[in-house]
Amino acid sequence: MSTVARSPATPLTETLSRVAADYQTADVIPHCPSCSRPCCKLDALVLELEWKQVKPLWQIEASRKDFDRQLAAGKGPVEIRAANGLYYIHSKPCPAYDETAGNCRVYGQDIKPPGCSDFPVYEDEGDLIVDLRCEAVDLDALIARLKPALGSAYRLTEHADRDFPFLVTLSVKKASPVRPSPGKPVQRKKQRR
Ligand code: SF4
Ligand code: SF4
Repeated sequence: MSTVARSPATPLTETLSRVAADYQTADVIPHCPSCSRPCCKLDALVLELEWKQVKPLWQIEASRKDFDRQLAAGKGPVEIRAANGLYYIHSKPCPAYDETAGNCRVYGQDIKPPGCSDFPVYEDEGDLIVDLRCEAVDLDALIARLKPALGSAYRLTEHADRDFPFLVTLSVKKASPVRPSPGKPVQRKKQRR
């Protein structure tokens, strides 16, 4: 487990990204081959892709225009929906998923969508987003890893999304300086005369 505290010069977002990446490497990825609900089957999750990813993953020969026409005519692939210039994949395993080995055939390659590397823990605008649909995620263990990396100058709050409670946001705030209790007046040194 990495517990190196951030240097004051390190941007917070960088620290969060590093903790997320370390957590994925140490606790998530080793679990993937034995996962009982692999995310790459896309039965629970929706994969959002650009054309530059759809084309090689589905080995599409046609132009994008022709492919879009084919989708609009209901000629499939049935797992792909086009909207807002993007493609949404759901209900069939990703073609790059090796079901026997339980891993990704394009792991470490440029073709692998960035969203896949982010799941289930990623930095987003200064917060850490945690997707509890991944069975390898242990929120307490992640927080235990995050706290020493941030140092005592920061405090963490967590909240689940109201509509999608499996999405938890860990927000980082500067800890308030310790103030003297209002009931105990501050003792002042007496002036020598
Ligand atoms: S849900 Fe989590 S553990 Fe399962 S395959 Fe996906 S990343 Fe790996
Ligand atoms: S590209 Fe790889 S990691 Fe992403 S959904 Fe497909 S198999 Fe899974």
